[in-house]
Amino acid sequence: MATQMKKATPTAARIAHENLRIPGPVPLPDDILEVVGTQMMNHRGPEYADMLARMTANLKTVFMTGADAYFITSSGTGAMESAIVNTLSPGDKVVSLTIGFFGDRFGDIAKAHGADVTSMSFPAGQAVDTAALAKKLQELRGVKAVILTHNESSTGVANPLEEIAATVHANSDALILVDAVSSAAAMPIAVDAWGLDVVSTASQKAWIAPPGISMVTFSARAWKAYQNSKMPKYYFDIAQYRDYLKIGQPPFTPCLSAMYALEVSLKRIVDEGTENVFARHHSIAERCRSGAEKLGLKLFPDRKVASNTVTAIRVPDGIDGKALVARVRRDHGVVIGGGQGQMSGKIVRIGHMGWVEPSHIDSALAAIEMSIAATRAGK
Ligand code: PMP
Repeated sequence: MATQMKKATPTAARIAHENLRIPGPVPLPDDILEVVGTQMMNHRGPEYADMLARMTANLKTVFMTGADAYFITSSGTGAMESAIVNTLSPGDKVVSLTIGFFGDRFGDIAKAHGADVTSMSFPAGQAVDTAALAKKLQELRGVKAVILTHNESSTGVANPLEEIAATVHANSDALILVDAVSSAAAMPIAVDAWGLDVVSTASQKAWIAPPGISMVTFSARAWKAYQNSKMPKYYFDIAQYRDYLKIGQPPFTPCLSAMYALEVSLKRIVDEGTENVFARHHSIAERCRSGAEKLGLKLFPDRKVASNTVTAIRVPDGIDGKALVARVRRDHGVVIGGGQGQMSGKIVRIGHMGWVEPSHIDSALAAIEMSIAATRAGK
């Protein structure tokens, strides 16, 4: 006898998606949401192999690379860990460039695996100083890898990745391992032209898919380093992904629902044209930055290094940042990000990666403005 299934009502059904303005997970357009709800498939069957081949080709287009690129079932942090464990050995000299919370995390991953990490921290709200980096690389010598965040989501700062890569190449033979979790698919990353060895990212950001899949590129130099790398690895052993890709399979059961969404969004990004996608992110970010300034709010970073995927705004004097985030959600249903780590309570962050309409930005800013006014009025 068939069992009558009771219809489930998930918590997420209560969230107004146009109002999810955190720097990821991004809200999904209806047609991608529908894809997420489609039936499972045999990940060792021909349909998956076809899908994976198309997706891999599109992923490489976005990264402007002829090098290898893989899908891993993990969040972005897993992809960052894979960059470390597949190229390095315990005791290897690593320079960790950090401009915030996620830069610190990348350094911590390298330390956890026994690398000899030299941290170069730059003040919150600023980008990496390439002159200081050049000096450090000459001083240290024998650095195996420079690791860095492209777009520091915690402060809304985008590092000048091309310039940093050129500095590393001019002053060392170090590998360049990049956390591009919150920049890839929104800002240009020319993996081959800039000589980036491993670039990691995650599905829930500008790729417009649910969390669950991370993606990495892997250069010829990175493969050479892999041969000598002695850090322990199993789940993230990139050779498994390479060997399985040859037969159109993942090494382990993938997050199919996120892969389905990514298949559609990757095609959409490539069809729109990556240059157009990057320009669209720039223009929506500009709208957010100037909109905030018009309200008399101050951007946290310098405009020159302000991110095109997340805008960090200083919380005005006399306002409690955490209470502001809570009020914006309670009174206006708009979910924005607060500050992380040392920035907690000092800034609010508006995410604008993926598919964002200008009106979404305008309503988030209006909600912030009204909440500040109400707080000041003692309401
Ligand atoms: N790096 C950056 C720059 C990020 O924005 C994030 C996620 N906010 C991560 C790393 C970590 O990604 P995940 O939470 O998917 O592991």
